[in-house]
Amino acid sequence: MDNLKENLDKILQNIKEKASKSGWAAEEITLVAVTKTVGIEEIKEAIALGIRDIGENKVQEALAKYSNIKEKVNWHLIGHLQTNKVKPAVRIFDLIHSVDTWKLAQEIDRQARRQNKIQKILVEINLSGEVSKYGCPKEEAFSLIRDITKLTNTRLLGLMTMAPLTDNQGLVRGVFRQLKDLSIKINDQHFNNVEMKYLSMGMTGDFEIALEEGANILRIGTGIFGERKVK
Ligand SMILES: *Cc1c(COP(=O)(O)O)cnc(C)c1O
Repeated sequence: MDNLKENLDKILQNIKEKASKSGWAAEEITLVAVTKTVGIEEIKEAIALGIRDIGENKVQEALAKYSNIKEKVNWHLIGHLQTNKVKPAVRIFDLIHSVDTWKLAQEIDRQARRQNKIQKILVEINLSGEVSKYGCPKEEAFSLIRDITKLTNTRLLGLMTMAPLTDNQGLVRGVFRQLKDLSIKINDQHFNNVEMKYLSMGMTGDFEIALEEGANILRIGTGIFGERKVK
């Protein structure tokens, strides 16, 4: 097993150093430990080391873990959400990062109303073109967000993106910068019921750049738990 504590210390130290560059205090940065393919015991170990935010990309996998983890942590859905999985997703996730269509937003709102919950969401923006199938195109972001303002049980708290998988750091930085710019533009609209509080961007390979560009939610898997077994 990888040395969790050592990995985590290294990342937290890095966050501390880089966060100040973008004006955040280290405590204002949410580190989401991405636990896809990671076993329950290892997740519990991470929680014991201070992890308070858990990120999963599949509802089914998250459900199995959720029922086995009694510690009070925040659950983040970071992967694509199908409308037929919305009901259990709304039941367990504190923040859904991957809202990218009006249809999905409406279904989340409907299930949240039924469950008597205000579901916190982020809108996922696709800024890297063909790299990802998911995410709302930048051009459609305003119209989607305008629609979301009509919902009663859904609270939009920010934006999420995935950078392209490339060694070209300039390209990655450009994508993060675009997300930040977009969040400022949305903020300037003073949409009802919308707060651009969170920017969820940055993974193991690019979180330092993301921090420099204003991220305050990082989603880190392999940097904490080591390489994933292929699934
Ligand atoms: C897997 C995943 C991550 C974490 O990736 P690492 O490179 O292991 O840090 C972050 N965000 C999303 C959406 C993911 O699916």
